[in-house]
Amino acid sequence: MHEMALTQSVVDAVCEHAAGRRVYSVKVEVGALCAVVPDAMTFCFEMAVEGTVADGARLDIDVRPGAAQCRSCDAHFALSDPILLCPCGSADVEVLAGRDLKILSMEVS
Ligand SMILES: [Zn+2]
Repeated sequence: MHEMALTQSVVDAVCEHAAGRRVYSVKVEVGALCAVVPDAMTFCFEMAVEGTVADGARLDIDVRPGAAQCRSCDAHFALSDPILLCPCGSADVEVLAGRDLKILSMEVS
């Protein structure tokens, strides 16, 4: 379950930016290629924030589809999962988006 490591890095960054203030909610954007299961991430978040300034904070997860371009046929297409295959059948694709995990916003006291 790699959500734990990802979530821990989010919580670390959030606590650092909160600088001692109480955190009420955190919104993150996760690329589809991160293969994050939102429910698992929420579960990890609840454990990771325990005892921190973000204890009890709400986590909003926005899963963004990825995008890729095929080197064989030049098509642009969306990626909804980590399987890198162009509709033409080629696996020679370049990933343009979908690998990022970003903190979009957070609500502090
Ligand atoms: Zn193609």
